[in-house]
Amino acid sequence: MNIILIGAQGSGKGTQAEKLSLALGVRHIASGDLFRKALSEQTASGLQAKVFLDRGELVPDELTVAMVLERIAQPDCLSGLLLDGFPRTITQAQVLDNNLPRMRQRIDKAIYLDVPYEELLKRLSGRYICRAHQHVYNAVTRPPRIPGFCDIDGSELYQRSDDKGEAVQKRLDIFFNETIHLIDYYKRQQKLVTINGNQSIDKVHAEILHALNAPIRSKGLKEIPAWQIPVAPPRLSSTISCE
Ligand SMILES: [Zn+2]
Repeated sequence: MNIILIGAQGSGKGTQAEKLSLALGVRHIASGDLFRKALSEQTASGLQAKVFLDRGELVPDELTVAMVLERIAQPDCLSGLLLDGFPRTITQAQVLDNNLPRMRQRIDKAIYLDVPYEELLKRLSGRYICRAHQHVYNAVTRPPRIPGFCDIDGSELYQRSDDKGEAVQKRLDIFFNETIHLIDYYKRQQKLVTINGNQSIDKVHAEILHALNAPIRSKGLKEIPAWQIPVAPPRLSSTISCE
């Protein structure tokens, strides 16, 4: 099964993508990771993309599509893939649709995580990270136990400049002006699934699986960063359980 996940920043898209790829056994392809890999390996497309990223601009469609198609052609994508952060525009979606058939692939579903603008703004501008290890907190969805300090290492929490008001609005505006048209595009193809993203992570995950008609597999704990796992009370026996 090949899936596209559409959602604004702050919609929980990254989290859902990780959970979903584990639950469905499909490869998670995040366009951001593609860029980082191409940059660190200094590929031709990576170096070209760097110019745009350094200027804080979006990477042009042709360049992005080339990188994504290269990645989709890898053998580990044969059992299915989950595209996260791509396509971003209708042009990208069309190029993707034009190229997938010759790779004997197609997009089966496009999932839209629907979260109201005001809620996104609240979530994004509430983001804080710690100075010591960049642990992520959110004033709304994941507050620290002691305001202003990291739960794990006690270091000071601060807000990155791109998480502040105007920068956040700019990012959201790009999504609502441009990416939102993808929703109509996939609706016309009868591939669109809209999920209410303004619910708990587990509820959203369950609704996606339900909509895809996929069985819920055992919870994958591996994808949860260690600092997010709640501290369990000490056990009396040393038996290791495999729940
Ligand atoms: Zn920390």
